[in-house]
Amino acid sequence: MRGWCMIQRTIRLAALAALLCVPCALAAPLDNNLTAVRTVRVSLGDGVVIALSEEGIFAESSPQKGEGLYAFTRRLCGDEKWAQQIVATNGGSQVLHAGERYRVPFDLLSNELQVRAMRALFPQDKGQADGWRHQARGVGPLQRESIWQLALWFTGTGENFRAIREYNEFLDDDVPRGAAVVIPSELLRPAFRAVLPVPEKPYHLDYVSDPTGEYAVYRLRPGEALYSSVVVRFTGRVYANDVNAFAAELARLNDIPDVTDIRIGHRIRIPFDDLLPEFLPEGHPKRVEYEASLRASTQFSNQVRAKGLAGITVILDAGHGGQDSGATMAGVWESTHVYDIAMRVKRLLESHTAANVVVTTRDGSEWRIQDSDVLPFSRGHAVLTTPPYPITDPRVGVNLRWYLANSMFRRVQGSHGDPQKVVFLSIHGDSLHPSLRGAMAYLPAADLVGGSFGKSGGVYALRKEVQEAQTVSFSHQQRVESEGLSRELAKQIIAAFSERDLPVHPFKPVRDKIVRNNGTWVPAVLRYNSVPAKILLEVCNLANEQDRRLVQTRAYRQKVAEAVVQGLLAYYGQDTDIPGSQVAKKAK
Ligand SMILES: [Zn+2]
Repeated sequence: MRGWCMIQRTIRLAALAALLCVPCALAAPLDNNLTAVRTVRVSLGDGVVIALSEEGIFAESSPQKGEGLYAFTRRLCGDEKWAQQIVATNGGSQVLHAGERYRVPFDLLSNELQVRAMRALFPQDKGQADGWRHQARGVGPLQRESIWQLALWFTGTGENFRAIREYNEFLDDDVPRGAAVVIPSELLRPAFRAVLPVPEKPYHLDYVSDPTGEYAVYRLRPGEALYSSVVVRFTGRVYANDVNAFAAELARLNDIPDVTDIRIGHRIRIPFDDLLPEFLPEGHPKRVEYEASLRASTQFSNQVRAKGLAGITVILDAGHGGQDSGATMAGVWESTHVYDIAMRVKRLLESHTAANVVVTTRDGSEWRIQDSDVLPFSRGHAVLTTPPYPITDPRVGVNLRWYLANSMFRRVQGSHGDPQKVVFLSIHGDSLHPSLRGAMAYLPAADLVGGSFGKSGGVYALRKEVQEAQTVSFSHQQRVESEGLSRELAKQIIAAFSERDLPVHPFKPVRDKIVRNNGTWVPAVLRYNSVPAKILLEVCNLANEQDRRLVQTRAYRQKVAEAVVQGLLAYYGQDTDIPGSQVAKKAK
């Protein structure tokens, strides 16, 4: 249907274009009285006139003194690569003549001129947080503005008409006379997107209540899917089963027959009980409580500044290993890949910083970095307790890690006494909903790490680290302080990922708990860990194909290691690049 309409439209335009009287020496100001005029012209100053007709929008200008084709193209298009298109638009002559006007199609105009042109033609248009607000005028050739035409102008492709129509909830393909149309930011040409005000928040929620309960309401934006943009973002669910189950529940609640085909702008209600606290209305008791705990922990920040990490102990922990391969996706083992990254972090720290590095596990009898993209399978990892524990039972492996970390922490504490000079970093790879990508860091939420805990019997009782201190518990103050320091560390490492253009989880890359199977908890390796600044870093999502491809390259694993080291340096007040790193920090 659309194809035939377009052909008809093109024929109609061509016929009209032939009839139009285009030359017009004077730049006429746009005026509501000009309804009969077929070409509207408006001057931008600097000898540039914008012309609007049934043919479209053009800039018209004469070459300035001494200005050749390429300089003319640069002035109007911002880049001389469009010179031949300008030649083609203007009859094919390679030479521009002084005093003659040449036309430049809107598509080719520089970003700056595109915006100035539209502002001149439509003075009531403006950028707002969610997109460009266009005020239909109904003048000149624009007696009726079609959404298709607006899509062409503002987004560069007419195909976006459907998204614009849905977003504005229009029933017709033409813009109602005098109506305002919002072209959502996601669809805009870069020129228009660049001039939008930065939104206060990257989303907008309304709140409603009815006899069935209280809800946040979110309008789906172009390119957004229910599971990622609503379920993952607003409820914190990230695991595939959880995400899919809740997406199905929302679909029922919101009368969505097909979750893969939801109208843009559809109002999606999310029950209060399922929202992350930060998305509840301001003043809601659960949000107030959340904000208070955040405030309490952020009072604690790392006070230690350590040049080149001198005097700092970094406890590195590669997740899983031995018989526990962790997440396994399409033949990729979490254990071997995160171990390789830990080895790279170790080497970087030892060669480029003065940090003291200790590692909780080792594969075989020596530290080794595999010089290959695809890593050989290995089950040779042992936790380096006394005696070592070749990892057979994953749960024992995890518990012995925190016993070992706590023992290391006690030892370091004994030598210099400053708990802030130790950090614990556990490196993992996620297996989340496959649509999600990038790094995510977990830290321990103060309210989930109370009580006391210890393991006894067989495999534990044998080990020196368990004998030293069999049970562990933390005071309220320790828990809150640990949350604050760990959050700071997590943020620095995630920021380093972003700065180095490594993928980062799109919505909440720093989390203080795992949300899964309708429960929340802190991973055991952090939960019982005495080191105040500690995080569990998920370097990527192994269930995502792109992430999985990346992690199977040395280059990516090295970049991850560099980001980790940069984050550690930043945490200790060092904004320096790592010398000899393969990829320099992106210029700020
Ligand atoms: Zn893991």
